[in-house]
Amino acid sequence: MLHELQGQVALVTGGNRGIGRAITFELARRGLSVVVGVRNQEACDELTVALGAIGAQCWVTRCDVTNYTEVADAVSGAIERFGRLDALINNAGVIEPIGYLHEIDPADWAANINVNLLGVMHGCRAALPFFLEHASGVIVNISSGAAQRPLEGWSAYCAAKAGMAMLTRSLALEVGARGVHVYGLRPGVVDTEMQEIIRASGMNEVSRLQREDLVDPRVPAQVVAWLCIESAADLAGQELDVRDATLRQRVGLEPA
Ligand code: NDP
Repeated sequence: MLHELQGQVALVTGGNRGIGRAITFELARRGLSVVVGVRNQEACDELTVALGAIGAQCWVTRCDVTNYTEVADAVSGAIERFGRLDALINNAGVIEPIGYLHEIDPADWAANINVNLLGVMHGCRAALPFFLEHASGVIVNISSGAAQRPLEGWSAYCAAKAGMAMLTRSLALEVGARGVHVYGLRPGVVDTEMQEIIRASGMNEVSRLQREDLVDPRVPAQVVAWLCIESAADLAGQELDVRDATLRQRVGLEPA
């Protein structure tokens, strides 16, 4: 186990599978203590065992990001258990509903916004008082190319991620000068269950990408770890893209 981040503590939402799980393990492998928000007891138990098996300092807790009380409890519980909080990774997200707006149940559309946008606000709102009090902290909002690029059938997801991107930029203005660095990170097209749902939908060109062309979740996880470790303050407030060659060189994913 590496120990680059010994002593630091990060909270990852939706850390039981996909990109969030890769981020959780990447941070834990580097010696960070990880607090992981998951939605059910089964995921809680499974992840606690899996993280324990690599010797991670961890606390896995129930945290549905649409529920502000659960998010605030995860933040305060992290601080109580570990005495500090250094990074918040707002990763939890959903792609559905996929479909034409005129056919979608408005409640399903709202549910997407609740997770992908409101959930991110909940994390920021809960962690920021502690970060500001200590004049330090990193927030990484897991964004998407869909924040900028309209895609047929994904109106809720695109609108939520575009909203998240503006939240990142607005928040960076509010807290950047006070030592808190907020980043948006577009992870590329990553091989997770979300992409299985997209492929099964047959909707728009993303569904036609082949699984073998997708990125391993450990790639964006390395970029998140880098944002937590390095002083990347010059990039704060931006939507970073894992595919960006300059970023990849800085992170060490590609030779300079
Ligand atoms: P997955 O569908 O594989 O995993 C999503 C995770 O989010 C799961 O852990 C899930 O928990 C959790 N989650 C969903 N809703 C909630 C909620 N209300 N509260 C807490 N946790 C929740 O997706 P990915 O790993 O692919 O996506 C992770 C992030 O990356 C998302 O924000 C997504 O938008 C973004 N992204 C992904 C891309 C890709 O190609 N995969 C591309 C661009 C962005 P549970 O197991 O309980 O459902």
